[in-house]
Amino acid sequence: MRHADILITHGLIVTFDQTETIIPDGALAIAGSDIIALGSTENLSAQFQAREQIDATQHLVTPGLINTHTHSPMALFRGLADDLELAPWLARMRDAARQVIRPATVARGAELAYAEMLLGGTTTALDMYFFPETLAAVAKRVGLRLITGPVFVAHEVSDHLRADERLARGREFMQAYRADPLVVPCVMPHSPQDVPLSLLAQAQKLADEFNALLSIHVSETAAEVANVVAQRGALPVEFLDQLGMLSARSILAHGIHLTDAEIARVAQRGAVIAHCPISNLKLGDGVAPVPKLLRAGVRVTLGTDGPASSNDLDLWKVVRLAAILHRGVQQDSTLTPARQILRMATIDAAKALGLDDRIGSLQVGKRADLILIDLDSPHLVPFFDAYSLLTYAVGREDVSTVLVNGQVVVRDRQLLNLNQADTIAAVREIAAQAATA
Ligand SMILES: [Zn+2]
Repeated sequence: MRHADILITHGLIVTFDQTETIIPDGALAIAGSDIIALGSTENLSAQFQAREQIDATQHLVTPGLINTHTHSPMALFRGLADDLELAPWLARMRDAARQVIRPATVARGAELAYAEMLLGGTTTALDMYFFPETLAAVAKRVGLRLITGPVFVAHEVSDHLRADERLARGREFMQAYRADPLVVPCVMPHSPQDVPLSLLAQAQKLADEFNALLSIHVSETAAEVANVVAQRGALPVEFLDQLGMLSARSILAHGIHLTDAEIARVAQRGAVIAHCPISNLKLGDGVAPVPKLLRAGVRVTLGTDGPASSNDLDLWKVVRLAAILHRGVQQDSTLTPARQILRMATIDAAKALGLDDRIGSLQVGKRADLILIDLDSPHLVPFFDAYSLLTYAVGREDVSTVLVNGQVVVRDRQLLNLNQADTIAAVREIAAQAATA
């Protein structure tokens, strides 16, 4: 008998591998952080002796979801200022941030957000916020795979770093996490507008120095595009290309108001668009041209955006909306099929992040980042097609067990590495202060 740490048996395994293999009555063996075998329950039960066995009868087993755009500590401000125009909303957020944001409160906001994501089946998130070392520490503690790093912004900001300190601290972060098993460093200039050119150049240099990911907001509103044209004399995508910020390592959030020429440029450079339809609709930004992007060959991934703008971190809702939104707009029910949208939240996101050697599909040699979905609920019966069920019916409440990097982090809908009640109490206290800002 071979040894495994964990043996999952009797699940319907949806792998998202190259041939999109689905294994009925499937089993999966894990040793350390890795998937070491995958196959029928009969075969694996005969081969493996495991320290822990997880019975996945009447469960789907799929890769954990990947959220490619959020600002998790803004969970502290969830619902604080909804239904406003962008300028007054930003002003309110800035006041609230000035009042409460510091490393200790950012840690509490991140705990809350990472708890919400893990409980809902998101196992990896790209998180743009101040104090990335705090975010990284929380992620490692609760067991979420995290992409984060130094933020480069305009105006007065919450971390009070001077420009030279920002670069030095940023470099330290990139260095510290370059080989971390759970945290992937990423350079995060905020947007092509308002951020001084010198800071954008620093950010790009840092990303190049570490051959790292770079994430930036692009063309979220029409007003922003007009602003960039006025400030920079070029459309946002052209401007980023001039700075060398458009590459296969670039994750562009939103990408709503793009010209055909810009779409062609994004495709040519291999850059990624992180589509955040719930945030975009709620804020009245517009609808990203996803079918057009896909036809042009652009890699599209999915994001929730921060919980102050989209109010929750539920990627299943984003999956469902991304699948149906463009059909309604284009009056074409063949667009964005379920399987394609689910790939955006799993293997395509992993490719976009350069992590497809580790995550995004269930395959031998990859890390065990996976979720169990409990099918014993009225809204999930009967079962015909896994992709259809996952896209149109499954919700985050159906996620029962979550593993990240081979570790069980959610069991029977309970977080194992966080005192949830303690986090909730702390966030309520911080929110009360934010409300008085
Ligand atoms: Zn954002």
